[in-house]
Amino acid sequence: MNRVRLLVLNAALGPLDYRVPEGVDVAPGQIVIAPLGPRQVTGIVWEEERLPTAPVPDAKLRPLLQVIDVPPLKAELRRLIEWTADYYCAPLASVARMALSSGGALGGPTTTIEYRLSGGMPERMTPKRELAIAALESEQATIRELAGIAGVSEGVLRGLTNQGVLEPVEVEIDRPYPEADPGYDKPDLSADQKKVSERLIEAVEARAFAPFLLDGVTGSGKTETYFEPIATALKSGRQVLVLLPEIALTEAFLKRFEDRFGVPPVLWHSSLKSTERRRAWRAIANGPENGGAQVVVGARSALFLPYAKLGLIVVDEAHEVSFKQGDGVRYNARDVAVMRAHFEQIPVVLASATPALESLQMAQSGTYERLELASRFGGAELPEIRTVDLTEHPPERQHWLAPPLVEALEERLERGEQSLLFLNRRGYAPLTLCRNCGFRFQCPNCSAWLVEHRFSARLACHHCGHETGAPETCPECGEPDCLVACGPGVERIADEVAERFPEARTVIATSDTLNSPGRASEFVAQVEAGAVDVIVGTQLVTKGFHFPELTLVGVVDADLGLEGGDLRAAERTFQQIAQVAGRAGRASKPGEVLIQTRHPAAPVIEALASGDRDAFYETETELRRQAGAPPFGRWAAIIVSSEDEAEAREAARRIGDTRPKLPDIAIYGPAPAPLAMLRGRYRYRLLVSARRSANMQEVLRRWIGAVDHPNGVRVGIDVDPYSFV
Ligand code: ADP
Ligand code: ZN
Repeated sequence: MNRVRLLVLNAALGPLDYRVPEGVDVAPGQIVIAPLGPRQVTGIVWEEERLPTAPVPDAKLRPLLQVIDVPPLKAELRRLIEWTADYYCAPLASVARMALSSGGALGGPTTTIEYRLSGGMPERMTPKRELAIAALESEQATIRELAGIAGVSEGVLRGLTNQGVLEPVEVEIDRPYPEADPGYDKPDLSADQKKVSERLIEAVEARAFAPFLLDGVTGSGKTETYFEPIATALKSGRQVLVLLPEIALTEAFLKRFEDRFGVPPVLWHSSLKSTERRRAWRAIANGPENGGAQVVVGARSALFLPYAKLGLIVVDEAHEVSFKQGDGVRYNARDVAVMRAHFEQIPVVLASATPALESLQMAQSGTYERLELASRFGGAELPEIRTVDLTEHPPERQHWLAPPLVEALEERLERGEQSLLFLNRRGYAPLTLCRNCGFRFQCPNCSAWLVEHRFSARLACHHCGHETGAPETCPECGEPDCLVACGPGVERIADEVAERFPEARTVIATSDTLNSPGRASEFVAQVEAGAVDVIVGTQLVTKGFHFPELTLVGVVDADLGLEGGDLRAAERTFQQIAQVAGRAGRASKPGEVLIQTRHPAAPVIEALASGDRDAFYETETELRRQAGAPPFGRWAAIIVSSEDEAEAREAARRIGDTRPKLPDIAIYGPAPAPLAMLRGRYRYRLLVSARRSANMQEVLRRWIGAVDHPNGVRVGIDVDPYSFV
């Protein structure tokens, strides 16, 4: 009798066995539908010996209902799923879900109805209709998506459809993608770039696992350099995955890609429409030929897609913290990318101007091959970096720009050059309090202050999204006009610029203002056209952007990132400031960077000012080595949470009490988390610090798996944690 074992896409269920109906062929990796009680579940056929479970007698087996007509997940991907689940202590099903991240790809109709403007006008124009018609120019999507784009209700659009202003169009969901041309517009590489790209081309041709650290200063042309091995992969009929840390960056990347290869790549990110998801997923699984997916550019979730013939992976801005997923399966896409390359037997390139300490360490130990681009492309100089000691040059009261920075800004405005002010804080002010009674606005769901957003006149929690209108009287004492904003956010810095330089054209660049690809490209176009004098931005503007007229970067508060004092605080500060500094003087005009700080002698600030990256990394590395911290030891965080404070505390205590006592593993805590409440849940943390010789994951699984908790308790394991709150 023919039977199969399924990995079912439900983390609460173990592996399940089924009967294969007569005349049906199944192989590992195939995606199937099976009955489960009265319901149906999706599963992946898995090798039985890799998914042990108590055997079910033949007579009890129920038959599979359907084998879905998509290519099976390859063994390479199945091994990656297993590795990821194992390493990050996550359920296999949760990891497998990421590979099938498009439910719609597996079945359903093959065409869809979308709507677009017909050119007609409604009998009666209303302000909403007018708004919608203006916003939907050259858009085509479902009613619901169009409503999102236009910012009107679906009802308004249905009204327009009834009047023939919007017309339906039937679209083939799985239509082919246009073919990229590897020779479309080849750049002339500099000698340095050529050396690097030839090494990568050789690695693509060799079709063997080869991890590279592409360590190139900002503006060295890392992108151009890795485009050439991409061309090689395309010529030999292989696919390429490029991971980018931020969706706001993709727009600029797409344009460069199209300039080089004649067509845009296939995009993958979490806000794709469901039809786009299906189309991309199937094209990726079908391979690069016949309108399939050749080059995929995506956020970290693109890593688990079922590429048919992967030939190269590039992780750009590989040091970025956003490659680490903060909940669910807490994986680091940078590290999993290397594992995927290992299973696929292909090269992987981690590109960065400020590599993670872990990556540099791998390069130093010879595990990764280091490729260097030491100078900027086209002879541009790296900017001059100076610190501004705020204790010596204090800004005026309720102002945040010190005199030297104000002067530098003024010079740029006079010369018609652009400036960028960097402050990693969204909104107007991080804290609002009552001058009369001292009341502070706090989030009801989190241990965090509400951040004032003056443009939208809201107070918002940056952890859970809770929002209230900004009141005029104190909710506690009832005094009118007594609320004061404490400290600056980007909006307040923009206000200060407007007050000092009323004629300056200022834009704010944060995830609030550049929250869609459209807005991001509008921003880029505006800056490129010279319609902007001063950009005030958060970490979003620290990377990727290339603005030739930008010659001044001001770091408003370099000490901000050092406050938390966690493992990576200094490293992150270094990376952020070095990256934002790298936006200055990228073309013919020299750049200048002013770093405002209260601690000009702090090692990280001194390293930035002297440009001595190696010295900084060496000291950091030594500190980590002595502390047994990553990458010299392994860390894991255990986060216990519940809506009930006592229940959370009790569960954390039980976990703490049953901790294993092993010579090569130290366990600290439990202690209330720094963010003691998040989204209405009370939180406790433990930290596990293991020598590399220990099998930390195995210890964690046994220990955490053996403790039972009430239903309301959640226990999360975060291997290689990046967040310590
Ligand atoms: P990085 O990512 O290393 O900071 P970029 O890839 O953004 O640098 O390159 C900086 C600028 O130099 C970009 O405008 C890019 O188009 C240009 N550039 C780099 N290499 C070349 C080349 N070989 N030919 C033409 N332009 C190049
Ligand atoms: Zn909150």
